[in-house]
Amino acid sequence: MPSSTVENYLKTILRLEAEGEGATTVGEIARELGVTPGTVTTMMRHLRDRGLVDYEPRRGLSLKPEGTTEAMKVVRRHRLLELFLVEVMGLDWSEVHAEAEVLEHAVSDRLLDRIDAMLGEPTHDPHGDPIPDRRGILPEDRAVPLIEAEVGRWRVVRVCDDDSDLLGWLRKKGLRIGEEVDLSLADRIGGVLELSRHDGDRVRMGVDAAEQVYVEAVELPE
Ligand SMILES: [Zn+2]
Repeated sequence: MPSSTVENYLKTILRLEAEGEGATTVGEIARELGVTPGTVTTMMRHLRDRGLVDYEPRRGLSLKPEGTTEAMKVVRRHRLLELFLVEVMGLDWSEVHAEAEVLEHAVSDRLLDRIDAMLGEPTHDPHGDPIPDRRGILPEDRAVPLIEAEVGRWRVVRVCDDDSDLLGWLRKKGLRIGEEVDLSLADRIGGVLELSRHDGDRVRMGVDAAEQVYVEAVELPE
């Protein structure tokens, strides 16, 4: 089994575990990866034999600690590579995800350490996603999707990294990670949200976009 395939499965299970409630299923993984449930089942037996997942047919499955560590290593490589491609290679944030999907399986630990040092041991990638540390540990995340936010002051902390059209659109609108904005309109039923920016600009977005932008509350001075 090529290691890149194993790594993509581990990464997918990690993401499903973070997003979902309850155990991850073979069906969910099959949908995510666009393969048949039979293919996933074969892989789960393989990963179980390697001590990376807990898996029992027709029950849910979950990553064992060793599996989580392996998956976090891939996430660390992916996010460091994205930052390297933006900061050093000068690529736009809308075009680095697909490149990192390939490179994350190829880069050696030695090269990755050099990239990490060169970038000053960064904590976040260009999309605001936290970079797991060497032990595979992520800082606590208190961000909420904009679509769930109430009207008020928020800081944009991250955006989904895999929708290059959305990233290009956000770039055009000038929205930046770390920027503080006022959510001035949150009409979820009507399907539109509006952000007011410091320069007086207003950015309107639909619910699909607002599901992919994550914000944190800003503590306002008394
Ligand atoms: Zn990415």
